[in-house]
Amino acid sequence: MDEYYPKNALAALLVFSSSQLSKIMAILKNASKFSMGTFLLIAGPCAVESREQLEQTAKFLKDLGISYMRGGIYKTRTSPYSFQGLGEQGIFLMKEVCQKYNLRSVSEVIDKETVEKMKDYIDVLQVGSRNMQNVSLLRALGKTDNSILLKRGFMSTLNEWLFSGEYISKQGNDNIIFCERGIRTFQQETRYTLDLGIIPVLKKRTEYPIIVDPSHSAGKSEYVQSLALAAVAANADGLIIEIHPEPEKALSDKEQLLNFSQFEQLFLKITKITNLLGKTIV
Ligand code: PEP
Ligand code: MN
Repeated sequence: MDEYYPKNALAALLVFSSSQLSKIMAILKNASKFSMGTFLLIAGPCAVESREQLEQTAKFLKDLGISYMRGGIYKTRTSPYSFQGLGEQGIFLMKEVCQKYNLRSVSEVIDKETVEKMKDYIDVLQVGSRNMQNVSLLRALGKTDNSILLKRGFMSTLNEWLFSGEYISKQGNDNIIFCERGIRTFQQETRYTLDLGIIPVLKKRTEYPIIVDPSHSAGKSEYVQSLALAAVAANADGLIIEIHPEPEKALSDKEQLLNFSQFEQLFLKITKITNLLGKTIV
């Protein structure tokens, strides 16, 4: 057992006995650059569609004091006939707009090639739910210096999710943010079932931050607020929420997007709960 001493030890938490945990926890403390008391708030469109759409969103977020903007450039759509994202030109658009408004960018990578294309231009690289077990993608991300937002596969257990994190960290990148975005169950009223119960469990097993995506789990804008507020109260380390200046005109996920006034109302409530919990929004 002693010979197996993984650099980051996420997987070790699954297999080691409790007597070995203190050594492992020391490694994990260094592993996460996410400090206690920090609440990561990311918002932005499902997909980057145009300069105008992105600039409007960036300005809106900046005025609220939010620092992270999301926007899909390469999309993993269920149907090949749906909008697949702007591709390469979207990378430069995202970089330019984020620079102009002093925002940090979050966007999804879908394969090794997109990691190469995006790593120098996008701050946080997102692994989509459908790619959580794409091992070559995870290994490629492990060789970058970017923060990695690792979404939970919608059919994945906690152990499978942690092992995916280990694929990244074993290559040297410990800067991983786990993101619960809902799993598939028998209920059909929401798009997925948000598993808030996983938050305390993941926190017990690792020191990595876990944020929540209420948008993809809700599937409908009218349910997003309840799920978002529940996640904050359940001690999530952050949220990633889809917004759009004109949701009805969006090219993807239009039903779940919040418009600016809906998001602003939600933001005020989020701020109240984070204040109560002694967390600062970053
Ligand atoms: C997204 O964030 O736009 C997305 C596709 O999410 P998920 O991978 O969770 O479905
Ligand atoms: Mn989306």
